Amino acid sequence: MSEVRVRFAPSPTGVLHLGGARTALFNYLFARHEGGKFLLRIEDTDRERSTDESTKAIIDAMAWMGLHHDEEIVYQSKRIDAHQAALDKLISQKSVYKCYCTPEERNAAREKAESEGGSYIHRCDCRDADTEKSLPYVWRFRMPQEGETVFDDIVQGTIATANREIEDLVVARQDGSPLYNFVVVVDDAFQRVTHVIRGKDHLTNTPKQIQIYKALGLPVPQFAHLPLILGLSKRLRSAGVESYRDQGYLASGLNNYISRLGWSYGDQEIFTFDEIIEKFELKNVNRSEGSLDLQKMEWVNQQHIQNSDGALLTREVVPFLKKEGIDIDGDSSKLAAAVETMRARAKTMVELAQNLKFYFVADDALEYDEMARKKFFTDDAIAKLKGMAAALETVTDWTEEAIAECVNAYIAGHNLKLKDVAQPARVALVGRAAGPGLWETMVVLGKASSIQRLATARTE
Ligand code: GLU
Ligand code: ZN
Repeated sequence: MSEVRVRFAPSPTGVLHLGGARTALFNYLFARHEGGKFLLRIEDTDRERSTDESTKAIIDAMAWMGLHHDEEIVYQSKRIDAHQAALDKLISQKSVYKCYCTPEERNAAREKAESEGGSYIHRCDCRDADTEKSLPYVWRFRMPQEGETVFDDIVQGTIATANREIEDLVVARQDGSPLYNFVVVVDDAFQRVTHVIRGKDHLTNTPKQIQIYKALGLPVPQFAHLPLILGLSKRLRSAGVESYRDQGYLASGLNNYISRLGWSYGDQEIFTFDEIIEKFELKNVNRSEGSLDLQKMEWVNQQHIQNSDGALLTREVVPFLKKEGIDIDGDSSKLAAAVETMRARAKTMVELAQNLKFYFVADDALEYDEMARKKFFTDDAIAKLKGMAAALETVTDWTEEAIAECVNAYIAGHNLKLKDVAQPARVALVGRAAGPGLWETMVVLGKASSIQRLATARTE
């Protein structure tokens, strides 16, 4: 097989939602797996709906996901001359004709067809008329009327459509401005795309496009139409990738989750990005629709938080801590140590940051969970915490072992059990009754803060 070249071709009319992200991802995975090229084309010919902000949002979201494209970005709006040349070719070989039908005439024909129970396919006399009129017109493609258009979709199987059933689609307006099904062919050919991988919503466009390739004498690429993504609300489905980033998904977690919307590898659920690239095959993309499931998505993300490199997590959690009011440098060794004590519990980076907050607030600004305080801060417990704090002053080597030894000696000396002080101490140190192990918490907090928090535990 010659070099694989695939493209992601978003229209910049909004955010990169999960469906678009999955299309981009599958193109990227296929290109990387095959050692080919992953191209990006911005389909911005619709000047009214396309915006620069949207283009930027899409490019930024792809960069965050790690979907780096090869070669220069192709902006469709800059290829007007090429589109015009292709249209001229179609005109000169009479592959297109001027259609003068008005929207009213089309609507009437549509209503008639639908009232007769059929689906509407535009047919009109303009196709065979050889008189020019001085009326507004559009360029329609002269679809063959015999035979069928057949292609082997890598995901959907063989798709055969009777040519009589394919509409004479509009390829360009009177001013020459071209429409999607036509420019996509011209530009895919220009970018020498070998495999068109896109959502199944485009499946009915493909026979039309194949006929345009043929009319232009261009090689027809292979096609793979991905199953639709269902589930959740329309609002969540159309939320942008950046909103998932802001909700605390790691790129590797989101990539893992959306890769599994349509693709599988045995019953393995958790993959690193490199592993997906290594294992991804288009032939393992299934036809059944993927369904979004937030619980599953969080679970996958949690696995990635657990498995990620500590340095990456430490870096990634910084902006989330900032939102919690904690301004801290990602190089901080205290932060790195704090992350290690908490990473096993968090489903999202938002949760991780919330769980880490207690380590970084000023000792006298620690907020206590009301229930935990009521339950564990008895006068007797407060007295013991002060005693423990005093004993801990003598610890010189602030390690888990030394802290444990000191506290154990204190409780033995006062005829106590660890459980008599453990929960009150945790509330004093963390602010709530749940948290990582007591000794590791104190090591990360440091000697001064730990002693301060134990000594000044307040009942109000
Ligand atoms: N701009 C089109 C879209 O976003 C591209 C479809 C295609 O991949 O051909 O739906
Ligand atoms: Zn017509």
